[in-house]
Amino acid sequence: MRLWIKDPLAILAASAERGIVVEGAEIVECIARGRSPAIRPDATFDASRHVVLPGLVNAHHHFYQTLTRAHAAGLGKELIPWLMAMERVWDRMTPEALRIAVRMALVELMLSGCTTAADHHNLFPPGLENAIDIEVEEATKLGLRMTVSRGSMGISEKDGGLQPDSIVQDSDTILEDSERVLRLYHDQKAGAMIRVALAPCSPLAVPKRVMEGSAELAERFDARLHCHLCQSPDEDVYAMQAFGKRSVDILEEAGWLTSRTWVAHGICFDPAEIERLGRAGVGVSHCAASDMLFAQGICPTVDLEAAGVAIGLGVDGSASNDSSNMMEAVRHSMMLGRLRYGPSAVTPYDALRWGTQGSARCLGRDDIGTIAVGMQADLALFTLDEPRFSGAQDPIAALALCGAHRADRVMVAGRWRVIDGQPEGVDLKALIAKHKAAARGFA
Ligand SMILES: [Zn+2]
Repeated sequence: MRLWIKDPLAILAASAERGIVVEGAEIVECIARGRSPAIRPDATFDASRHVVLPGLVNAHHHFYQTLTRAHAAGLGKELIPWLMAMERVWDRMTPEALRIAVRMALVELMLSGCTTAADHHNLFPPGLENAIDIEVEEATKLGLRMTVSRGSMGISEKDGGLQPDSIVQDSDTILEDSERVLRLYHDQKAGAMIRVALAPCSPLAVPKRVMEGSAELAERFDARLHCHLCQSPDEDVYAMQAFGKRSVDILEEAGWLTSRTWVAHGICFDPAEIERLGRAGVGVSHCAASDMLFAQGICPTVDLEAAGVAIGLGVDGSASNDSSNMMEAVRHSMMLGRLRYGPSAVTPYDALRWGTQGSARCLGRDDIGTIAVGMQADLALFTLDEPRFSGAQDPIAALALCGAHRADRVMVAGRWRVIDGQPEGVDLKALIAKHKAAARGFA
């Protein structure tokens, strides 16, 4: 079926003033001003109230943390004490609780205009060995595109690390399960709904063997590599004490300084490291809310981008953001970029580029993140009917400047997944009730 998304109020695409035509999972035509579709469409969607964006792409998250938002154990703490306190709450995670957390995160993201999400799942207490399988099942059910990142933690208190012994796994288990989920779920084809990335929590949280083994597996299966990196200046102080080198050097030694890798945060690189990351083609997922909450620094987005690094956006785990709203992440990154670099350095269009094309590059995808012929039909449509937008002149800039937070329509792979602000096939009230009940187990 050919669907014409007709005459949008505005659209973030070149030569598509009269909208786009979608057939199957793809965009097959962009209709320029004064033109009509080349082939008569089978159906038309009147988009005259809608600002049409490429679906937003979330490049970093921890879905399970939706169960511990605004948690008393974490309030007002510095990064490391916060992490240590929360890890002792998260180790209670069960398959049932994870499933409902994942469903909530996916729905919340989708309602904010997100069509592809990367989740960094690194929590594997006994009984939760099938966490990745649960994520794949839930994403498939809801129809959101995902890069499911098989995370890992391997150095615990007994080995001088920070993590409790209860949530780490040994290197063999990590690497065997990484291979298992790659074989089962990693789809390299264009238009893939599920891809798998390998994602040790950080180069400091796993033995070198896991970093190296992950890089080898990623090469073999043509998959992406992901980890946290340089989330605070303390990280490099610790790296120097424990390993005698900085985090970027540890990454390079493990074979990770390649275009397969994207890292989360990246706050405190020195100028030479920024150049090295750019030359290697590493991507960085900027998590603005997390930068602000933990106040360890601001990701040097503009410098990184100038060096050739792909800048994507991540909402980050709900415990270090408390919200999984991708449009909010766009606004936050714009505000924080201007705070660091000045008002002309980061426009709403820059922030939107990071949250779409930039994140897509981080995930190694050239089939999403842009509205153009041949791209996947992943779209986020916003109306400007709320008081906050009234009087706005530039409809696209208004989304970031006036604070859009909920999409009216969301399409993934050519199918409407949000209609009139409601997720298709999801009883939102019942989901919230179930999620709240599950969260009580983590009080
Ligand atoms: Zn994170």
